[in-house]
Amino acid sequence: MSRFWSDLANKLTPYVPGEQPTGKQLVKLNTNENPYEPSPGVLKAIAATTGDSLRRYPDPDSSQLRAAYAEREGLAAGQVFLGNGSDEVLAHTFQALLKHSRPLLFPDISYSFYPVWCKLYEVPYRTVPLTEDFRVDVDAYAGDNGGILIPNPNAPTGVLLPLEKIERLLANNPDSVVVIDEAYIDFGGTSATTLIGQYDNLLVIQTASKSRSLAGLRVGVAFGSVDLIDGLVRVKDSFNSYPMDVVAQQAALASLADESWFLNGCQQVMDTRERVSERMRAMGFDVLPSAANFIFSRHPAHSAEALFCALRDRGIIVRYFDKPRISEFLRISIGTDEAMNMLLNALEEILN
Ligand SMILES: *Cc1c(COP(=O)(O)O)cnc(C)c1O
Repeated sequence: MSRFWSDLANKLTPYVPGEQPTGKQLVKLNTNENPYEPSPGVLKAIAATTGDSLRRYPDPDSSQLRAAYAEREGLAAGQVFLGNGSDEVLAHTFQALLKHSRPLLFPDISYSFYPVWCKLYEVPYRTVPLTEDFRVDVDAYAGDNGGILIPNPNAPTGVLLPLEKIERLLANNPDSVVVIDEAYIDFGGTSATTLIGQYDNLLVIQTASKSRSLAGLRVGVAFGSVDLIDGLVRVKDSFNSYPMDVVAQQAALASLADESWFLNGCQQVMDTRERVSERMRAMGFDVLPSAANFIFSRHPAHSAEALFCALRDRGIIVRYFDKPRISEFLRISIGTDEAMNMLLNALEEILN
């Protein structure tokens, strides 16, 4: 509280990101970063940035990058919106498309930034419980609402909602904007972008942070009907007309140009995820089926807090959430095979 802050600033409960330690000695499995570096083409594009291009403002519409994303998805450039990380794209989405008098719906267990934006932008919302086995029940979203927001795969569970369920959600709610937050879709899911032609109420949001190893660059994208995208542009141009800097635009373009590097990296993460999930199940962990670059698991005989602290003592940081229904789970990002072997060895030691 401060007497200098606005009422709004006084009332906010900001999102708390995972720890970014400055020391190098920790094994960092807490923020779902990609353990592999981006394509060498990305580094080349960054090195090729000229002083002259830095001197000028960037292209406010990120036209080249928009065209590249549009081509990859078989959409028109006017169906693509870019922002400074998908967090920014989501923030604009709350203001442009999800703020109505009827409540926005999202799962009770989902990205913990959603309620923070609701508070910032004064968006009424209601959470809808996941089923006992942590799945989204799309029929529970029928009825009056001012919008629907689902992370797919869900965070922090990693559980994937099949495309036919998303189609059912869209068909059941033709008068609401349905936003699918696909931050982790490249690790084994099928994107809902294929449904955009049929459903003008669908907005799909993706990021280069996880699957493209570009979290440090801040590149996010939304795909949808021209009508939805125009709504986002109105908010963007009332907030910051130049959200994507020149370096980010060129680097993201280079990432999109190297499809095989991208696919190999995702496959490597998925292979490691399956291997680690199997080993942890053999140790007695309950591991939810993950389609993301992290796993969500609990041990029936060990509390998440105790495991979290024991891992931390061994220099390994993971994430746990002190929240109803999931307080006994650890969320573990998939790192290199070397890092994951250290994790598995540490867990074995702790359990014995
Ligand atoms: C990581 C994440 C984001 C934000 O990613 P950016 O780095 O801002 O692009 C959005 N949604 C979910 C569910 C995430 O896990």
